Amino acid sequence: MTDVSVFLSRRDFLTHTSCFGAYYALARLIPLPAMASAVASDKRVAPTPVIDRGFAAVYNIGNGLYATISDPSKGPTTLCNGGFLVGKDAALLIEGFTTCDGAAFQLQTMRTISKAPIKGALDTHYHFDHSMGNAFYGANNIPLLAHATAARRMVDSYSPLQGADKAATLAPFEKAVRDAKSETIKAHAQSDLAAITSVYTIANSSILGLPNHPIDPAKPLTIDLGGVTAVIESLPGHSGTDMIVRVPDQNVVYTGDLLFSGWYPVCFDEKATISGWRATLAKFASLDKDTLFVPGHGQLCGQDGIAAIREVFDDISAQAEKMFHAGVPVEEAQHRYLVPDKFKNFPIFAWGFTIGPAIAKLYAEWGNK
Ligand SMILES: [Zn+2]
Repeated sequence: MTDVSVFLSRRDFLTHTSCFGAYYALARLIPLPAMASAVASDKRVAPTPVIDRGFAAVYNIGNGLYATISDPSKGPTTLCNGGFLVGKDAALLIEGFTTCDGAAFQLQTMRTISKAPIKGALDTHYHFDHSMGNAFYGANNIPLLAHATAARRMVDSYSPLQGADKAATLAPFEKAVRDAKSETIKAHAQSDLAAITSVYTIANSSILGLPNHPIDPAKPLTIDLGGVTAVIESLPGHSGTDMIVRVPDQNVVYTGDLLFSGWYPVCFDEKATISGWRATLAKFASLDKDTLFVPGHGQLCGQDGIAAIREVFDDISAQAEKMFHAGVPVEEAQHRYLVPDKFKNFPIFAWGFTIGPAIAKLYAEWGNK
């Protein structure tokens, strides 16, 4: 609620980016493309950022609306996108990012624009790259909003990694690399090992800041900030804890990871549902044609970004369906997907976190029919 302790507690919670070596190696492979010309020329989007720190830049994208857009190739401080909304009475922050430094960057940037009281900081879902900087907000007395089950999912997913033996944690992933029966499978296993190494490292250099204002997913929450009204609502797809922030009268949507813009979607979560996610994307596609989307990862986009990720899902589904009907076992099918030329530039975070589980989940959905 206050900003007086921002700079003090920033030092207290300073995260040592040197801990992120493995992660950074992975992230460096993921440069942020330039804004599409249609977005860059959108009247809502300011031509120059409020601030650009390399790892992220903050853009004014509407009346009181700001988007924090990360460039993972320039450092892992924020990694995901976020943003903030400022009205004349109050402000709302979106995302806790990967580190306390990331959350501090966003809060401090917001404070250069508005001194309004902060209603809260929303994690669009519980994943580490959206929530590991929460402790910084907590230390600044900012309420932490999230889906009602997000706190539990954070504890269940990340507490077991904290203090766990690193070698034992990584062993099954290293074994998968050793046992790989082909170069393709080996490359996939190596990408998974890099990803889990990063998650382990980040979990062990973070304090879990658990959301303390659970939002009932069955009840969309309307927040009036004074001249800026946002609706927080739950939609299925990426993590079972996904919340979006919609600003209906400006046609702007902060999607969290329900939209990967120009990326392959991360589908590993046990609560991820491919059919649910595709239904969510169909809903986004049915919104106004001029809707501006702030994705969880990748560049700001319009409806073209929604169309592109729907095409990616269509392609994964079409390739998986052929294998399903040909009787290819799921373990094999997960590795056989071929990235078509038109998606060659779409980053794949790690095979076993994206394409592999998407195929496994599709097989499960079809097998259950
Ligand atoms: Zn996520």
